[in-house]
Amino acid sequence: MDLCTTLNQHNKYTKSVLLASFLIDLFLSIGKLFTGYISSNQSILADGIHSISDVLSDCIMLYMAKIWTAPPDDNHQYGHGKIETLATVLVGVFICFIGIVIIIDIIYDIIFQHTSSDKLGLVLYVSLISIAFKEILYQYSKYCAKKINSDVLLANAKHSRSDVISTLFVVCAVIVQYYFPGFKYTDQIFSGMIVYMLCHISFKMIYHGILDLTDVADIHTENQVLQYAVGYHDIKEVHMIRSRKFSNRTFLDMHILVDPDISVLEGNKIAENFREILLQNITEIQDIVIYIEPDIAPKRHYAR
Ligand SMILES: [Zn+2]
Ligand SMILES: [Zn+2]
Repeated sequence: MDLCTTLNQHNKYTKSVLLASFLIDLFLSIGKLFTGYISSNQSILADGIHSISDVLSDCIMLYMAKIWTAPPDDNHQYGHGKIETLATVLVGVFICFIGIVIIIDIIYDIIFQHTSSDKLGLVLYVSLISIAFKEILYQYSKYCAKKINSDVLLANAKHSRSDVISTLFVVCAVIVQYYFPGFKYTDQIFSGMIVYMLCHISFKMIYHGILDLTDVADIHTENQVLQYAVGYHDIKEVHMIRSRKFSNRTFLDMHILVDPDISVLEGNKIAENFREILLQNITEIQDIVIYIEPDIAPKRHYAR
């Protein structure tokens, strides 16, 4: 299969999963917010607000995916992967903001106007429908992610799973409220747990996104490269190896020392072969630049 067909297929699967996520999240967020409103149930309201944040991140993914999957151009010669990271950070900040708003609401509710929820049956039905849809979406995302080997879709699948867990808290809240109606703060406690989950996810998104945007090194991949270099007989030594993460992939550059008496052609061949081996065996590597130096002891510079 040529590169163009692969890319087309990649985009087709990504788009279909993101569109399914968007429609399901939209449907679920409306259902949950409406149920939360008429039943005064804070857990499902918190879960519904989580779904709204999902709708927004789906929108960004659907719109932005076009941008970051575009091939490198004159303006962005390393590709557009960082735009994906930037979008992730923005969604993280947004979710975090929503989380703080819900926490304030929960505290306000505990202190000033303790409302107890009713229509527990309806809350339970809506939660179970949500869990069923999200589980189907999880399986579908995972299937497509494996099919085209996509990190974005795998993240989407994992997110669907965490949504299932979030909604399970609503189910637990309903069960506890049903069997222990005397305990006043069940709803607040469980909605607090849902918000905690939401904030935890967003902190992770922001943290990893910022590391990526600030060109964090990928030491794990560097060590793998060094191991391959040790086993490669034509390479006398490696130094000045540098790496930076670029939206799930890594760019590297390195100096290699080769026999000083070989021709430029031979030296280039060593570097090309080594580069091919690395690209084939270490999937994390997006690209690697190799600088060839003659192995003359006094001329070595140990920058690293
Ligand atoms: Zn979610
Ligand atoms: Zn050097």
